Amino acid sequence: MFTTTAVAASAATGPFVTTTVQRRELGPGDVLIDIAYCGICHSDIHTVRGEWGPQQYPLVPGHEFAGTVSAIGPEVTKHAVGDRVGVGCMVNSCGECENCRAGQEQYCLKGNVLTYGSVDRDGTTTQGGYSQQVVVDQDFVLHVPDGLGLAEAAPLLCAGITTYSPLARWGAGPGKRVAVIGMGGLGHLGVKIAAAMGAEVTVLSRSLSKKDDGLKFGAADYRATSDEQTFEELAGRFDLIINTVSGHVDLGAYLGLLRLDGVFVTLGAAVGHDIEFPTGAIAANRRVYTYSLIGGIAETQQMLDFCAEHGVAPEIETVAADQVGEAYDRVVSSDVRYRFVIDTATIGA
Ligand code: NAP
Ligand code: ZN
Repeated sequence: MFTTTAVAASAATGPFVTTTVQRRELGPGDVLIDIAYCGICHSDIHTVRGEWGPQQYPLVPGHEFAGTVSAIGPEVTKHAVGDRVGVGCMVNSCGECENCRAGQEQYCLKGNVLTYGSVDRDGTTTQGGYSQQVVVDQDFVLHVPDGLGLAEAAPLLCAGITTYSPLARWGAGPGKRVAVIGMGGLGHLGVKIAAAMGAEVTVLSRSLSKKDDGLKFGAADYRATSDEQTFEELAGRFDLIINTVSGHVDLGAYLGLLRLDGVFVTLGAAVGHDIEFPTGAIAANRRVYTYSLIGGIAETQQMLDFCAEHGVAPEIETVAADQVGEAYDRVVSSDVRYRFVIDTATIGA
């Protein structure tokens, strides 16, 4: 074991503190990564604040980070010292079940190991990327393509893949009308990626305050959901809606915006809200309601390559280690344009 410097939540309601965490020694198939940047995802906030159940503290969050390989185990073939790499929400899975074999490790039937707050294969609790170094199995480490900066790559590892996967799965592309509900960290990347795929994109935001940005990101239309006319005017219009809202939405109202065989994909976590299932709205127009969880490892690489090729990158605001608490409050009040990224050089500086 060796120690690395990290930023940890001291309690669900407590402050962030600079601390050290233990990392395992490099195993034969492991990669040691010097982390440069780690994004702040709203899931970190749900987790730290206990909204997804009790946690063990201190807890080091962070599941979208990028950096440079500084050492490799003797059996590592996929990465070399000096490579620019990234890690997302998973650091291991069984590799043998039907879902893992299909490249859908996020749905591992034996339960995958999440990047933080999860029981690792050695029985310890994983600690995430708000830290300076991490040891990860080579199979869960992604190549950051040339043309993508490390700070920009970081949010792609969660927010990027979480929006790319359902857009690809449900055929966003030329001739398809896609709506994105909520334009925060996930949402703004959803807009950029769907537009790069060739779809006609509409943003459904609570107000028009970010309209100029949405149009700049590639949206053809931008509507306020606080305006009831939006729902009348857009009825039956979309092939696909991806919902990135971090709370509850009125599902019945949004389903009405889908055309025949249209698909509604929830990505945001409406924690504590059992949804009322509007069967009438599903039956009309044979609509589909589903959920999507991040994406598989091969698909995550595909997404990074796609973003590099199409010039898609998140809008980021870099923060120092001592600004994490403030950044959380700003995400919760939707005062983020559009993803906070921690510069890990500032941890313990
Ligand atoms: P975020 O940056 O806070 O964005 C959420 C957006 O939702 C906000 O920008 C806002 O958009 C809208 N919103 C917020 N509160 C709302 C409310 N009360 N009513 C209606 N709209 C509201 O968060 P994020 O990091 O993108 O994450 C979004 C959600 O996705 C979180 O719940 C997160 O846990 C979840 N998530 C899921 C996965 C997955 O694999 N499925 C992966 C990562 C994250 P407007 O201001 O435009 O209305
Ligand atoms: Zn995330």
